[in-house]
Amino acid sequence: MQLKLICLAFANCLFLSSVQVSAQSPEGWTTPYPAFRVIDNLYGVGLLDLSVFLITSDEGHILINTGLEDSTALIRENMESLGFRIEDVAILLTMQAHWDHTAALAEIKQISNAEMWATVDDARVLEDGGFSDAHFGGRESFEPVIVDKIISEGEVIELGNIKLTVYDHPGHTEGSSSYSMVVNENGRDYNVVIANMGTINPGKVMEVDPTYPGVSEDFASTYRRQKQMDVDVWVAAHGSQYGLHDKYKPGQAYSPDTFVDPQGFVAEVERLEEIYLEQLAEERSN
Ligand SMILES: [Zn+2]
Repeated sequence: MQLKLICLAFANCLFLSSVQVSAQSPEGWTTPYPAFRVIDNLYGVGLLDLSVFLITSDEGHILINTGLEDSTALIRENMESLGFRIEDVAILLTMQAHWDHTAALAEIKQISNAEMWATVDDARVLEDGGFSDAHFGGRESFEPVIVDKIISEGEVIELGNIKLTVYDHPGHTEGSSSYSMVVNENGRDYNVVIANMGTINPGKVMEVDPTYPGVSEDFASTYRRQKQMDVDVWVAAHGSQYGLHDKYKPGQAYSPDTFVDPQGFVAEVERLEEIYLEQLAEERSN
């Protein structure tokens, strides 16, 4: 069974068969990458081009995303290099319920006893292991994980000193979500956004017989609302989406300003919106 094309980052396009999901994954999905501090209590603990974010507090941590199913050890090592334990993760979140970001959730949940929180539409996909995904579904693509709590737009997740606001940013998946928080470094407040970008996987259909009902409106509203966000620092589900490797090199001294890039965020949302509009025009011309 062919699994269709995947193109999660800009250039990562390839054909995968159902049995070769991890064997033929893009290098950036399996290559280790050293942990780094984004700003304040937000850290990157993922892989070269798969983002896993850690937000720490005295009362447990929030972990956003995993990598592929064998990524647990790398995430654990990255957390330990920063002085944190995977067992102390209290809440697990996702940005988009696709297997390259979810496949180790069940294992980490078991190790840490953390609760899995998700938006209603990504919760469904998490609980059936990707089976009901509108685009890549029809088969299980990762180990199902039980969702303990449904989160939705505007909700503030509180854990210790963490206050993390939830945004519904659907389109890439039906339940895609972003998160924001305000941190203070050296007397200055920074608006930090962990953004799920509205990238369109090849083969998605917007209008006639759409990938899922409302997908086109979902993308349009996500772009519109993301452009209105107050952003100083932003990161995204793939390092390549937010210019990780241009902004930061491993070993670089910490500065709260390393990932400050408000114009870059708007420019990237506009670029993706342009691609969406081109696809709409293309669909309408057929
Ligand atoms: Zn995806």
